[in-house]
Amino acid sequence: MSGTIQYVLEQVAREQLEAVEPLDPSRLGPGILAGATGRVAVAGHGLEVTVRVPRGFPADLPHVEVSGLPFRIPHVARDGDVCFAVRQGLVVDRRDPAGVLRQALASALETVEAGLERRNLADFAEEFGAYWGGAPEARVACSAVEPEGGPRVIIALERGEREGGGFVPVAFADDKARLEVVARRLGAGEWRSRLAVYVPMALHDAPTPPPGGAAWTFKDWRAFLHGHLHRRGRKRLGKLLRKAGADAPVVLGVLSAGGTWTLLGLKPPSRSGVHPLLGGSSEVPAVLGLERWDRTYLLPRGGADGRLGRRRVLLVGCGALGGQLAVLLAASGVGSLTLVDPDRLSNDNTFRHVLGRSAAGRPKAEALKHDLEQRFPYLEVSAVAEDVRRALDDGHVHLGGFDLVVLATGEPSLELELNERLRRSPAAPPALFTWLEPLGVGGHALLTGRGEGCFECLFNPPDHEEAPLFNRASFAAPGQRFTRELAGCGGAFTPFSYLDAARTAELAARLALQSLTGATPGNRLVSWRGDPGAFLGAGFRLSERWGTPPEGLSLGGCEFRRPDCPVCGAAGGGS
Ligand SMILES: [Zn+2]
Repeated sequence: MSGTIQYVLEQVAREQLEAVEPLDPSRLGPGILAGATGRVAVAGHGLEVTVRVPRGFPADLPHVEVSGLPFRIPHVARDGDVCFAVRQGLVVDRRDPAGVLRQALASALETVEAGLERRNLADFAEEFGAYWGGAPEARVACSAVEPEGGPRVIIALERGEREGGGFVPVAFADDKARLEVVARRLGAGEWRSRLAVYVPMALHDAPTPPPGGAAWTFKDWRAFLHGHLHRRGRKRLGKLLRKAGADAPVVLGVLSAGGTWTLLGLKPPSRSGVHPLLGGSSEVPAVLGLERWDRTYLLPRGGADGRLGRRRVLLVGCGALGGQLAVLLAASGVGSLTLVDPDRLSNDNTFRHVLGRSAAGRPKAEALKHDLEQRFPYLEVSAVAEDVRRALDDGHVHLGGFDLVVLATGEPSLELELNERLRRSPAAPPALFTWLEPLGVGGHALLTGRGEGCFECLFNPPDHEEAPLFNRASFAAPGQRFTRELAGCGGAFTPFSYLDAARTAELAARLALQSLTGATPGNRLVSWRGDPGAFLGAGFRLSERWGTPPEGLSLGGCEFRRPDCPVCGAAGGGS
């Protein structure tokens, strides 16, 4: 097999290169099936080209390496490796290995030619971090610094090196709270925090990396900074460096013309005197590659919506449904969550809670907050472990501070009371009520702001002849009791599964996101309807609404409103 590929490789290489030779087996490297080397003239420069075919070929593309470049060019790493294709997403014809090799080599040579003719220098800006932070000796630290904003003092967390090597920065953040979130991931050790400096700048031209792979000195960096900062910015930088100390690490934020931020850390040698960026010393700083923990970076990468980063949600109820909903909202990019729940996670219900068994016995709001912080480092999350009515009365929670209130308590009486309270408060944002029905027959989400159609509208009045206080959205017929008791009165629960909660949480999350991004669908009730087998098998009866056609699963406020609703209707004096 490898003999055949070696033969094909040499044939293809001869079409584009001269003096093609098989690569000595000792130079193939691990996982490489075949290799060849040859010479070619590109833009007047004689280069040596090496092609290696990996074991995963042709799904894994060949590696092309060039040597003899007169200066650094974009898309070619220090070791000469050419990045000629965005590998993810490139589809090759695996039945035509020769064609794949031909195409790969041609693309690599085109990339090199564009660089040597200085046609793609702007690409340096996009790859800033890869060129300056990509040195094999570069250390990596975490950065939660938000790249927007002006030059400022930030905080660095430094770890003591084992063999008397002093302290090395391992994390950067704008404030202590963010630094703590990052630090929790880093484990034990000897730590200290210190001041550092953040300098953002827009890259209006493309800096060329130093020739021959040499690294920039502090003098080079100073010239680079001065070339990209206005006079006021330079003065401010000097002030910040003096404040943070002569050995303060510096984080550079570089905004490319394409709108991409690249962050990079510079660590001066630990010595007193003047900061080497101010003095312009000829020493070479240790360059820190930064693993990005800031919102700007994490959110778009995760496919989340950037606008949501500024939205604040109050989530009341952190049980099976509320817990999953919190995760979905956070993963979608909602910037801030306040979790309210007075209860502890009961042993019986951990099977369907997003936190699982490990959180049994802990206060739900706090356990969920801890979990979310670990999973979504950009999320601001706070926990209020008390009854929501008391939290509102005592001023621990202010409705005016939120863009949406989500109610997932599973307690209709409490939510009816809150519905009225929200409607009466001029400061209250829209509210989203969500709940589940037993045994997988369905789930619901109701979004309601101003105007007709509120949570109370769904319920029959207390003096209703057949079904007082029955929720007319229900798929279960009125007058049935679904709670089961596991261990006496304390263990009562409504039977529904993790998947039922997940499906309802997704429905509610989509409606919440519509509201938060301003694509507000008005007051709306949406429902999903499941397989009634288990429900009917247990001897329960379905409601009239169960038989509604599919379009009846999404209703506008004017369709489900109750004209005599005491909260939002004419009788209640609502708008
Ligand atoms: Zn109403």
